[in-house]
Amino acid sequence: MRLLLYTHPACWEHDTGGWHPERAARLDAAIEGAHRSSLEVVEREAPEAPIEALCAVHGAGHVARIRDFVAAGGGQLDADTVVSPGSWKAALRAAGAGLAAVEALEQGEADTAFLVVRPPGHHAMPNRAMGFCLFNNVGVVAARLAEKGNRVAIVDWDVHHGNATQDMFYARRDVLYVSTHQFPFYPGTGWIDEAGKGEGEGFNVNVPIPAGTAGDAYEEAFGRIIVPVLEEMRPDWILVSAGFDGHADDPMANVNLREPDYGRMAGRLAKIAPERIIFFLEGGYELDAISTSVTAALDGLAGDFPGLTGDESPPRAQHMVQVALDQAAKHWDLG
Ligand SMILES: [Zn+2]
Repeated sequence: MRLLLYTHPACWEHDTGGWHPERAARLDAAIEGAHRSSLEVVEREAPEAPIEALCAVHGAGHVARIRDFVAAGGGQLDADTVVSPGSWKAALRAAGAGLAAVEALEQGEADTAFLVVRPPGHHAMPNRAMGFCLFNNVGVVAARLAEKGNRVAIVDWDVHHGNATQDMFYARRDVLYVSTHQFPFYPGTGWIDEAGKGEGEGFNVNVPIPAGTAGDAYEEAFGRIIVPVLEEMRPDWILVSAGFDGHADDPMANVNLREPDYGRMAGRLAKIAPERIIFFLEGGYELDAISTSVTAALDGLAGDFPGLTGDESPPRAQHMVQVALDQAAKHWDLG
């Protein structure tokens, strides 16, 4: 199985300072993990996203503000989000990687793609940077695919809710957003009743889970909700907001996923949209956990479907999966 790994040296030049968890070493960890997998890894340079592609999901004013703030030397955009002189080019490459990956997969150049880029994207709002994110990398690609008539499913297994991605496609039925995330937690959104509106009603599926949740509850969420919803929607493309901060060793959150859980999730998704699945690096702040989880996810994608770890979630996790299922069953056949 052949994997296109998109990255660019500019992504190392987004300097968040000495102590920031979202740091360039994360990229090295992810790349090392990819090379340890069973896949044939072909590295490619991520191109810069054209400004008009960013403007499909962001206001032109937001794009200009980021450019000008970086050009003026950078600094703090909000309490968590820092930019340096290298951040503009990094953000353009991070947003452009997925556009190139779509073209390459459409040409049959590989089986899948993994975008090892930063800054990450799923908290970047239409008109505001947020939570380490400047532009919504997955949103840019989903918008482009939808514009060309594709049905797109965004599956967000980062431990945080992708509030901005949800917002961008909330009223649309051609772009489904599905998320598993710790709740209550940053950024505060992602409750079960946020299910889309208008034409998009039902096309936003949140599976919030409590601190302490392990792979058994994710198994339930994927087996009973996420996979059946995707099978019914039959997306042309699956874009995965692949954060690795749900790993038990990650210092930023309290979920207890292990490597085999990432393998199972990736394996299930790949079956639904083979050769039309792209993984976007979002969060993940423990370097070893990123590396080993990336290996497991890619091996899972290639068909090495690992067993469950035996780790058990608190009873409330199963309850929340059931409540999420009851909500999703209003719109989907979850028999
Ligand atoms: Zn995250």
